Amino acid sequence: MEERMSNTEHAAWTQSRKRGGAYYVLRHGVLTKGVVFAILMSVVQWFGLLGSAVNKPAEVALRFVALALLYGGINGWLEWRSEESMYRQGPESDDPDAESVCLACHAVLPQGQSRCPSCGWSYENDP
Ligand SMILES: [Zn+2]
Repeated sequence: MEERMSNTEHAAWTQSRKRGGAYYVLRHGVLTKGVVFAILMSVVQWFGLLGSAVNKPAEVALRFVALALLYGGINGWLEWRSEESMYRQGPESDDPDAESVCLACHAVLPQGQSRCPSCGWSYENDP
């Protein structure tokens, strides 16, 4: 995969990933895509089985939660994994004037500096 994060996206993901995968999947998968999907499915269901669905609110609610968890969980998890794999490649470094980030400890490097002041890691491989 050649797609790289910009420095801004990389810094933003550094913040997002701190809360962990489970939080991300819940917040950005289940509570967004999952709920939307469950609402759509429920609407379809109410049109199809109007009588029986109205008579079984508990079953409808349970199905709603199950759909949101399943659909949102899968989508959120896939999104988390793709963001994480892009994150591990580091930000794109095609702009020499932009702030760069240490690929070892993710500290921000001063402009024009190729050696990390906090861990000593260097973009140049010589010691
Ligand atoms: Zn470093």
